[in-house]
Amino acid sequence: MRQRKIAALGAIVALATTGLTACGDESGGGAGSGGGEKIVIGVKFDQPGLGLKEGAKNTGLDVDVAKYVAKELGFSEENVEFKEAPSAQREDLLANGQVKMIFATYSITDKRKAKVDFAGPYLVAGQDLLVKADNTDITGPETLNGKKLCSVTGSTSAQKVKDQFAKTVQLQEYDGYSKCVVALAAGAIDAVTTDNTILAGFAAQPANQGKFKVVGKTFSEERYGVGLKKGDKETCEKVNAALKKMVDSGDWQKAFDANLGAAGLKLDPALNPPKTFDACA
Ligand code: GLU
Repeated sequence: MRQRKIAALGAIVALATTGLTACGDESGGGAGSGGGEKIVIGVKFDQPGLGLKEGAKNTGLDVDVAKYVAKELGFSEENVEFKEAPSAQREDLLANGQVKMIFATYSITDKRKAKVDFAGPYLVAGQDLLVKADNTDITGPETLNGKKLCSVTGSTSAQKVKDQFAKTVQLQEYDGYSKCVVALAAGAIDAVTTDNTILAGFAAQPANQGKFKVVGKTFSEERYGVGLKKGDKETCEKVNAALKKMVDSGDWQKAFDANLGAAGLKLDPALNPPKTFDACA
């Protein structure tokens, strides 16, 4: 219901913006030649440690990488506007020009590359499972027979469950992982499945201390890209240069430690932080 409303709203906004190009202001933000020009960046609003909106503040690793890149592109922090980019809406938000870039635990996939372009990757995660702290029977993807799983519409995580476990698992899909975590706490589902980064961020929240655990057996490779409108090669190359600078300077590590350092997350050290970036399409 809510999703349908959002989709309808998106369509209205898209219609409204197509007629408004005369002022020369590129939708989603311009090239960043200084002054007061704004850039609109898509992030998650409900993922602690990655993209979380707390009051007026956006926090998390995705947000910090976004701010760093925006600055390298010529946008000071006050000229960055964050817009919520739920998993299922990311391609449309870019295609409609409602956001210029997306930093939202957004895996680079061939299917998505048909609609959008990606810079990056700026992190490599893996799909995992979050269960209640006292759970003993879910120890990996091979132990999911007959279980109720929760994930998010439009994510690679939900797609993987449908592709690989459809016959044995019951899948509940919401429009955000925070809703899955509420369902897990209430005992309505047995496990939440998505990237280990996201699950570790939820488990480490002060309010969740001692409640959940990340199983720790990843079963996919999720390469986080910076989503861009298809054909925006110019921005893509600038973003890759900014990401390289963030990694080489040690600022990536600082941002990771500040946002996810306490979450006990084990990323593959051979892949993180990424030192090479995909060629722009
Ligand atoms: N990284 C995965 C994806 O892009 C799962 C996380 C998310 O839904 O943002 O679909």
